[in-house]
Amino acid sequence: MATRPTDDRRTTTAPATDDRFAVPLRGVAVDPETRCAHWDSAVDVVALRFDCCEAYYPCAACHDAATDHEAAPWPRDRFDEPAVLCGVCGATLTAREYLDGDGEAQRASGSEGQSPSGNRASPGDSRAKPDDACPRCDAAFNPGCRAHRDRYFEA
Ligand SMILES: [Zn+2]
Ligand SMILES: [Zn+2]
Ligand SMILES: [Zn+2]
Repeated sequence: MATRPTDDRRTTTAPATDDRFAVPLRGVAVDPETRCAHWDSAVDVVALRFDCCEAYYPCAACHDAATDHEAAPWPRDRFDEPAVLCGVCGATLTAREYLDGDGEAQRASGSEGQSPSGNRASPGDSRAKPDDACPRCDAAFNPGCRAHRDRYFEA
């Protein structure tokens, strides 16, 4: 199997961790920016930490492939601890920082009573940055991740 240097894919299973990353991380066919066998687009550059084993994985399927226990999402009482790795710059974000990026926190804090009018997109929302991006390096994160955030973060 030929391995191109620009496409360095490694599969790491517990208890080993991938030594390319500063944090304990494992998964299936993981590239240097934490894309994996399951999520492989340009924006799939986030790894999530799991409470059950304290390690980071590119996705829940990677967790299940690399370990023999059930995944436990990151608990709410640890949302101020690092729980998300940006595969582009290597920064770790707290769960709160990461989830703030998708607008949940802004909605939760303050404007609870104001719901957006109807279901039209608001033209007033003119943030320059994409909703899901690394606050450190501005790398775009997959906005689809929010659809299954309950797998990764305690609701
Ligand atoms: Zn685990
Ligand atoms: Zn995966
Ligand atoms: Zn980053």
